[in-house]
Amino acid sequence: METTVVKNSTDSTRVDMLIVGAGITGLYQLYRALEAGLSAVLLEAGSGIGGTWFWNRYPEARFDSESYTYAYLFSKELYDEWRWSEHFAAQPEIESYLNHVADRFELRRHVRLNARVTSAVFDEKSGTYTVQASDGSTHVARYLVAATGVLSVPFFPNVAGREDFAGESYHTGLWPAKPVDFKGKRVAVIGTGATGVQTIQTIAREVGHLTVFQRTPNWCAPLHNGKIDAETQKTIKAGYPEMFKRCQETFACFLHTPDPRGAFEVSDQEREAFYEKLYAARGFGIWQGNFRDILIDRKANATISDFVARKIRQRVKNPDIAEKLIPRNHGFGTRRLPLETFYYEVYNQDNVELVDIAETPIERITPDGIKTSAAEYQFDIIIYATGFDAITGSFDKIDFRGTGGVRLKDKWKSGPQTYLGMMVDGFPSMMMLMGPHTALGNIPRSIEYSVDWITGLLRFARESNLTRLEATPAGVASWTDHVKALGVGLLSNEVNSWMTGINSNVEGKQTRIVARYSGSAPAYREKCDEVAAKQYQELTLA
Ligand SMILES: Cc1cc2nc3c(=O)[nH]c(=O)nc-3n(C[C@H](O)[C@H](O)[C@H](O)COP(=O)(O)OP(=O)(O)OC[C@H]3O[C@@H](n4cnc5c(N)ncnc54)[C@H](O)[C@@H]3O)c2cc1C
Repeated sequence: METTVVKNSTDSTRVDMLIVGAGITGLYQLYRALEAGLSAVLLEAGSGIGGTWFWNRYPEARFDSESYTYAYLFSKELYDEWRWSEHFAAQPEIESYLNHVADRFELRRHVRLNARVTSAVFDEKSGTYTVQASDGSTHVARYLVAATGVLSVPFFPNVAGREDFAGESYHTGLWPAKPVDFKGKRVAVIGTGATGVQTIQTIAREVGHLTVFQRTPNWCAPLHNGKIDAETQKTIKAGYPEMFKRCQETFACFLHTPDPRGAFEVSDQEREAFYEKLYAARGFGIWQGNFRDILIDRKANATISDFVARKIRQRVKNPDIAEKLIPRNHGFGTRRLPLETFYYEVYNQDNVELVDIAETPIERITPDGIKTSAAEYQFDIIIYATGFDAITGSFDKIDFRGTGGVRLKDKWKSGPQTYLGMMVDGFPSMMMLMGPHTALGNIPRSIEYSVDWITGLLRFARESNLTRLEATPAGVASWTDHVKALGVGLLSNEVNSWMTGINSNVEGKQTRIVARYSGSAPAYREKCDEVAAKQYQELTLA
């Protein structure tokens, strides 16, 4: 393995491993790399660590995963010493947690902040990557790990006049550290995905008037958050081994796992009672712990969609508004499910208005507010809750060049092609964490596995005196075909969403692709374990 040669401690480094991104993924890779005796540097575009939990400071940004299942589980000591205050912690607590991890494991001195990676070019002769960052620094690394995030490139809608607005405007994913004062203000929120829902339900309590611009309603279900009392805290800590095991065993690494029954294998009354129970329960149970066929069988899906539609009608007093809030173009759970706390009740407030921009599209942002095809609105604040250029977005932003100068972006023109979601042929010794074609689910559970797999590969390479690790074209074709085949028959793959690579605001993202692995996490791990057990014969190692 190479030894660290620090050319200049402030500007440039030569290291074994360069990691891009200081979110929960990159930090863990850094920890494992150092533990394995590699020299490593981590470059982060932001001015602080935490990734998603550094950038998304919008009001009441919080987990949809239970805090204690989202936390790192690799260290029982860390798990024992950190006390989550709520079942679904909010952003400030999560950011503190990740900073605590950085301090506890002495990671900070290997992290370079305010350094956005702009290019990473492979040099055939030396077998290294030369990485350029926006702060002017250059780094040379044998191994390159992109931990750049699935939801880390915020995007704004493609409407004219955004710069003309004279008031304050914010994107949820680029929220300032300084609190925003909403008191008595006329506020617009554009977007009703998971971040829009969290923002709307929170600021509705404070604003003078709130106008929500909704293009596509999403199915939402109650979060049922709560404080964790001392007794529960003890039970959670004592249950660490079982929880760890359960997250390993379930389909998407949540505590919840599908019910083995089909929706029509029970009576109508039993089905209704089951849905009531799920609707009253905490977290993603209604999505991940529902009947086994609701996400693959249209009729089964219709039963839960119908149930949640009835809940919306009960909770929203104005029937016209209730109908506007009920999704028509996709079934329950076929897009990422936002979890909410009194979100629907917000629309019963006199000072809240819902504008359907599918009916009356936004024509432009004006100096005073927003002009739709039907009316002009005046605002003090506009909030863009318009999400991210998901999954491949952060990869597209970096000029990755592999052997022969091939650009990753060109290689992925018709959709990503990967080996296990972690490697790409023609990009030797470059690894991706949370890139396309990998198991998402409860993300920290997935990345702990992937980081350990990559670290295992590097340990193997060191023991075998190998430094160049590359996926083969056949391996990439086979994994890509496998991922595509897994998506067949899933209702979610028949729906436009960030999970199928659609973003009507981003050029070149109007065609559906298979962007994520939709098999089970245990099946994914089994395949990766098998590759490791066969000493990585599916890779070209030199
Ligand atoms: C509001 C919100 C709520 C979420 N809630 C949940 C949840 O409850 N459960 C769950 O499992 N997942 C959730 N997610 C998904 C979440 O993104 C992941 O859980 C997790 O944060 C991913 O971690 P990461 O380190 O892979 O990526 P990120 O946290 O996105 O970190 C990536 C980092 O890479 C940096 N970066 C990107 N490109 C470059 C570059 N070119 N140069 C330098 N740095 C770069 C970014 O600045 C960022 O800091 C949520 C996402 C959002 C946006």
